[in-house]
Order: sequence, then C-alpha cells, then structure tokens
Amino acid sequence: MASGRVDLDGNPIKPITICMIGAGGFIGSHLCEKLMNETPHKVLAVDVYNDKIKHLLEPSGSGELHWADRIQFHRLNIKNDSRLEGLIKMADITINLAAICTPADYNTRPLDTIYSNFIDALPVVKYCSENGKRLIHFSTCEVYGKTIGCFLPKDSPLRQDPAYYVLKEDASPCIFGSIEKQRWSYACAKQLVERLIYAEGAENGLEFTIVRPFNWIGPRMDFIPGIDGPSEGVPRVLACFSNNLLRREPLKLVDGGQSQRTFIYIKDAIEAVLLMIENPARANGQIFNVGNPNNEVTVRQLAEMMTQVYSKVSGESSLETPTIDVSSKEFYGEGYDDSDKRIPDMTIINRQLGWNPKTSLWDLLESTLTYQHRTYAEAIKKAISKPVAN
Ligand code: NAD
Ligand code: UDP
Repeated sequence: MASGRVDLDGNPIKPITICMIGAGGFIGSHLCEKLMNETPHKVLAVDVYNDKIKHLLEPSGSGELHWADRIQFHRLNIKNDSRLEGLIKMADITINLAAICTPADYNTRPLDTIYSNFIDALPVVKYCSENGKRLIHFSTCEVYGKTIGCFLPKDSPLRQDPAYYVLKEDASPCIFGSIEKQRWSYACAKQLVERLIYAEGAENGLEFTIVRPFNWIGPRMDFIPGIDGPSEGVPRVLACFSNNLLRREPLKLVDGGQSQRTFIYIKDAIEAVLLMIENPARANGQIFNVGNPNNEVTVRQLAEMMTQVYSKVSGESSLETPTIDVSSKEFYGEGYDDSDKRIPDMTIINRQLGWNPKTSLWDLLESTLTYQHRTYAEAIKKAISKPVAN
C-alpha cells in the first residue's frame, strides 16, 4: 500500500499528518477514504459531524481497522474552539473544506453564508501563515460567476467562441450580480478569502494551494430530505433530483433548466487533490480548476439523463411527466441568480500535475444512482407508507 510511493518527480513520498477541516462532509469523506486506503498519511479529521466517515473511524464486524491509528476525529466547530490552532500546529498541512455551500442557503441565509465562508476561514489562514504550515483551501468555481458571453446579444456568434465562456484561473474576471441578488454572497466571500490567501503568500510567504471545484458529484453528496436531512431542506441538484426519482415525483427544473454545468465524478477529483497534497513543489502558489470539461449538459439534459439511468438501475419505469418547470423565486426565494455556464480551462492543472478526469457523465451517474437506490429506496418506501398524523 504505502511503501515505494514516489511523487511526480520521482522523489519518495514521506508520510505526513494532515489537519482536514470539514472532513465529515461529502468531499472530506472521499478524501479520508483515499488517504486511508492508498497512502501512509495521518489525518486529524475536524468537523461537527462524522456520520459520513463513521465507517473509517469505527472497527467493523470483521475486526480492527488496519488504519485505525492513522485517523483521529476531533468534533469541533471552528467558529469558536481554541483547539484549532493546536491541531494546525500538529499537522504538516491543513486542508480547509468547512463551509456552508448549498445554493439554497446563499440568498436565504446570507449572513451565515458570509460568516461561514469568509470570517470562519480567517483563523485557519492566519494560523497556517503564522506557523509556517502549508494550506490547501477549497474555494469554488462560483468565483467566476457569470460568463462574459452571457452579456452578448442572444444571437451573437461570439457566444460560440470559447474566449467568451471558458473559465481560466489566471485570466477570467469574476462577474457577480448586484448586491440584492444575494446568491452571490457565497462567491464573493470565497473570492475575498482567495485574495487574502494570495496576499499572505505574496507578503508573508504562506505556502498555499487554492482549489476551485466544478460540480463534483457522487455518493454521500448532501442529504435526502426527510430521510437523513430536514424534510424542508434543499440540497444541491444531484440530491434534489435523486430525491425526486426515489419518491417518483417529477424533477423540478428551475427557470426552465437552461443553465449549463460540467459534472465531475468525485473519485476523479479526489485523485487531483491527492496529487496536490503529495507534490507541494508543483502545487504551491497555484489556483487549480478541478472539473471535467467533457461532461457538459444543461440542467434539463441532466434531469433527462438521471431519469434514464435511474430507471435502468432501479428497474422502475419512468413517470409519464418526468420533469416540471418551477420559477427560481418559487424554488429558492428572493435574491436567487444563477451561473449560466461553467467550463473549466484545464491548462494549469495539466501542466503542473499532469491530471485529467476520466469518468463520463453516464458512468458516474450510473454508479452514483446505484448507490442512492441501494442506500435510500427502502427508507423512502417506509417513509411514504407511514400514515400522516393529523
Ligand atoms: P459539505 O457540506 O458536504 O462539507 C462541508 C463540511 O464542513 C461539513 O461536514 C460541515 O459539517 C463542515 N463544517 C462547516 N462549518 C464548519 C465549522 N464551523 N466547523 C467545523 N466543521 C464545519 O460540502 P462539500 O461538497 O464536501 O464541499 C467542501 C468544500 O468544497 C466547501 O468549501 C465548498 O465550498 C467547496 N466546493 C464544493 C463543490 C462541490 O462540487 N462539491 C463545489 C464548489 C465548492
Ligand atoms: N436546479 C434545478 N432543480 C433542482 C435543483 C437545482 O433546476 O431541484 C438547478 C439550479 O438552479 C442550478 C443547477 O441546477 O442551475 C445546479 O444547482 P446546484 O444546487 O447543484 O448548485 P450550483 O451548480 O448552482 O452551484
């Protein structure tokens, strides 16, 4: 497993200790799994929840976990816990994943969103900088906001020109809507942390890497409302559509489902993060787009494909009316706005880390919806069959 591993330049990889904040979330759980299964590194896993990494923390029926001494869970809220600096000091590198990062919160809980994504990240950056520790900070593709192309006339041929929509780390501007469009509270908070980290690098020598994920999806993403999350909660699109499919309800297309996204399989994306962790000389000082430019669809096309794939993996026929339209105001409330199109430029990550995504959208939906069906179908059936209390 661990011995004989070398980095991209052929140097042996030494075991390190990683302070992973937000380790109990979707991305954190996959990163912890990868680190335990394939590397000798230790993880100090920090989060307020640990449900998604329980299988890594507790010995299973089949005996002791062979990595049990390499992962330690620390239940703490980074907003107000003095243990944070000690954990950062104990580690060689800190990875910060902690955030409120579901669009339904950006316009309805803008203060929590800004505090979580900006204020709460400040001590993490400060402790890394003051203690000379490497930081990998999770930002978002949403810092790009809207494409330049979306401001061109609808029939302009320039809309087809990649120069007007491909998003480049070192060249594209960050284009957000007006302040009353509170959707952008998240993107703006993330952008300011990026600028702060960049400035800490420039002025104080902080060794940093910034990751901009482009719609990473896969098993364990978010929650299914009413099953392992609040019934009124609105998760990100994969879980919304999975919930609709499991309950045999039409999938809701916000404002016609015309926005475009590129989706990447979580396992492909985690490979990129591991390369960043283990190749500091190539990753430090960089901002990386991590996405799959080949997997572009409109949200409507995503809904259609998920309907087809779910029918295949569950053996259930699709509904006669598989989708319905809903306005963004009705679905998300006042202040919602959207990114029109998100195609990551891959030049920098290709050059620095030689990384490319592999999994097609169909294949990643097939494995993810197989997981959703296996994990939730029974629980949903039970929930639906319960008599409603009056
Ligand atoms: P997630 O919500 O599943 O994980 C975030 C984790 O952080 C949660 O487990 C949460 O409990 C924890 N957390 C939040 N605030 C905390 C606090 N104050 N103290 C301790 N723990 C706290 O989200 P994710 O999809 O795993 O995203 C991780 C990071 O990647 C976030 O910063 C997000 O903005 C960024 N990101 C993800 C995507 C994606 O496609 N999944 C896209 C863009 C950006
Ligand atoms: N969306 C939708 N129906 C849903 C949930 C989301 O049409 O039930 C749309 C949403 O308006 C956005 C896209 O799907 O255009 C992706 O939403 P997600 O929550 O995954 O986050 P985003 O990519 O906007 O950060």
